[in-house]
Amino acid sequence: MKKTLILDGACVAQSVKEKLAQRIQSLALQGITPCLATILVGDDPASETYVKMKGNACRRLGIHSRRIHLDRSITTNELITIINELNHDDQVHGILLQHPVPHHLDERAAFEAIAIEKDVDGVTMAGFARSAFGLAGFPCCTPAAMMEIMDYYKLPMEGKHAVVIGRSPILGKPASLMLLNRNATVTVCHSKTKDLDRIVQLADIVVAAVGKPRFVQGSWIKEGAVVLDAGYNPGNIGDVDYEACLKKASAITPVPAGVGPVTIAMLLKHTVEAAEKRLELVK
Ligand code: NAP
Repeated sequence: MKKTLILDGACVAQSVKEKLAQRIQSLALQGITPCLATILVGDDPASETYVKMKGNACRRLGIHSRRIHLDRSITTNELITIINELNHDDQVHGILLQHPVPHHLDERAAFEAIAIEKDVDGVTMAGFARSAFGLAGFPCCTPAAMMEIMDYYKLPMEGKHAVVIGRSPILGKPASLMLLNRNATVTVCHSKTKDLDRIVQLADIVVAAVGKPRFVQGSWIKEGAVVLDAGYNPGNIGDVDYEACLKKASAITPVPAGVGPVTIAMLLKHTVEAAEKRLELVK
């Protein structure tokens, strides 16, 4: 009987963190502790949990975590002023503004205020462009996590047909460009796509980044396809119907413990890299 490979995010994340531990030690020898500043605006419980998880992951690895929790009544200008202060703070190497911010704020303007060298979550337009051009920098953490998982398990991307469902600036769009840069042939689908099921049936690699629980059906999956589920819906439910897709896929990420833990590991990796780059600059 066919056995589907479960792409274990905890295992991939552990491997990333083990490599980082050595780099953090050598930074410590030079008097540097990487520091990630997280900014949370308002009191959305899911966002609070994500920020807490990121802070805890930093601390466990010996990365400083500076948590900034702002009242939801803050204005865009006030938020940008705080980001600018962090940009100029030499102790801070990475800045993460938790998405989404309350609707009255201009999230794009706030993201753009983050200095490129501290944009460890890859949310600025300059960061996006660097990643699209395949240049050094910090790509968005969730699509970067999917690439990390594919590489860890040595799953080929070159020449494969990848179908990405979702085109958000932090997930679907950068994921499609990263797959393109790895020589996959990419189709990007969205809410206006017609015959989605038939398009997904052609895919060797399926990326689900829709934000709808169990949206991708087992009947849409080609026998032997690789399924990457970025979805994280309330109740720890992914964007694919896991049990049904498992039967068709050759490899699949579970939810939880798939893409999620690797996303956090990528954030830690980018923060350490930002600290290393800063050290190079001041040397
Ligand atoms: P988003 O901004 O809401 O984007 C959703 C995308 O799905 C949009 O491009 C939308 O198309 C598309 N879509 C919606 N309905 C569709 C349909 N019926 N058919 C085809 N496409 C459809 O969401 P996001 O921020 O990219 O997040 C996507 C998922 O990933 C969510 O479950 C989120 O919780 C999860 N996520 C996980 C992590 C992690 O670390 N694992 C990080 C971030 C997000 P349009 O563009 O046409 O509207």
